[in-house]
Amino acid sequence: MRISIIIYIIIFKRTESWISYKIQRWKLSEHQRIVNNGRIDTPKPSLSRNGSDTEKNYHHPRKQLRTALKMESDNQSMNKLSTSPIGLTLDQLSNQLGGRGRALSCWECYRKGLDPTWLFDSKITNDSIEPEVKMLKNSGWPRGKLVGRGPELGDKTLTLLKSMPSIEHDVAQLSHITKSKDGTTKLLLVLKDGLKIETVIIPWEDRKRSTLCISSQVGCRQGCTFCATGRMGIVRSLRTEEILVQVYYANKICRIDEIHEIDNIVFMGMGEPADNACEVVKAAKTLVDPNMFGLTGRRVTISTVGPNPDCFSELAEAPVTLAWSVHATRQKVRKALVPTTKHSMQDLRDGLLKAIHGRSRRLKSVMLEIALLNGQNDSYEDAMDLVEFCQPIQQQASKLVVNLIPWNDINATSGAASSFQKPTLENVIKFQNILRHHGIRCYTRITRGDEESSACGQLATKKAAPSREQNNQLIAN
Ligand code: SF4
Repeated sequence: MRISIIIYIIIFKRTESWISYKIQRWKLSEHQRIVNNGRIDTPKPSLSRNGSDTEKNYHHPRKQLRTALKMESDNQSMNKLSTSPIGLTLDQLSNQLGGRGRALSCWECYRKGLDPTWLFDSKITNDSIEPEVKMLKNSGWPRGKLVGRGPELGDKTLTLLKSMPSIEHDVAQLSHITKSKDGTTKLLLVLKDGLKIETVIIPWEDRKRSTLCISSQVGCRQGCTFCATGRMGIVRSLRTEEILVQVYYANKICRIDEIHEIDNIVFMGMGEPADNACEVVKAAKTLVDPNMFGLTGRRVTISTVGPNPDCFSELAEAPVTLAWSVHATRQKVRKALVPTTKHSMQDLRDGLLKAIHGRSRRLKSVMLEIALLNGQNDSYEDAMDLVEFCQPIQQQASKLVVNLIPWNDINATSGAASSFQKPTLENVIKFQNILRHHGIRCYTRITRGDEESSACGQLATKKAAPSREQNNQLIAN
């Protein structure tokens, strides 16, 4: 009898200890779920087999949980954010909205250029239309057409979303849409501080897809003599969300105006990506995240003029294709076209080689760009110099493509650009053939949208170009 009582007590104690251990584990996993969602770095509660904690006050899971929740709410109110949902990482947005599913639902909308607070708000009638529909004088997409796609967001999530800066009001507003005869569509966006940026949608009928050219800065400090943006000077760099909002609006316009879907994005609009590398890399990562914009890395290209040899490695942090705007390989000619060139072309090329050396095979392909100008860089000697210059790159890169961009007139009345001329078709073909003859893949980019100043090198927000005093003030701020 006594023995069986002792056995019962032992079994009872063991079971109690096991249950207590299991409860602690459950609390810990709950705590970690909240901590992970909330990005709160708190010490883990310690687990002990017998259910007792040495530092109960600090490590007790319930207290930890409470602390974590409090810190999370502090964190949320602290972050009440200067950043809109589109500028957050998926984990940050999940944390803000209290669940990954909600964040994914939002991104279902952002990918289509839709504001979820508009789409899921039950107070808005089903036949209401987006303001851009009126701008395009289009019958548009009635809201009802999209309701029901993907998981719906509840009132709590919508309230949280509305408490964050809105993409369409606090990041940028769409001000103008200009369409060329060939379908090239230029969007003028007004940023929160009143500055303007341009982004261009280039539809390709044969591929049934579109390319989007986006800006990374307002103006540019590189001052390339043939480029309208370079003549503006630098005003300021764009934040990640201001880069991404261009893709958001472009997707919206493609959806409403039934333009082919965007599957290719190039950082070739206003600005030099290397002068804003951190934000550009963050934006590029969002573009290729399958849960966000979901483009493939090979179809996103960051194009840099190469201000210094290290810039290639900085930009190579983004899992996308790299392009180098070489323009000319002879130092003197290069300096005349890109006056901010400080390094030798060999040093810059070494920087590029170093950057591609560390990349995966999929991203080892490189693009070189040459803006061809009549009598400046389109001679036989220029082509042969380029062939020689390309050889080490060809050996290292998995694929090398040279894109020739016949210069687009920027109607300059002063400076070097006033004397520049478009290259003749004959010279462009000759230049291309020389490169091809030496085994280099070389294509000539067709000029698109030049009658509406939407072509390469023509982007400059004339209406927005601030005075020198305004520029200085903005830079000082
Ligand atoms: S070509 Fe590119 S780098 Fe040069 S001034 Fe224009 S935007 Fe800047």
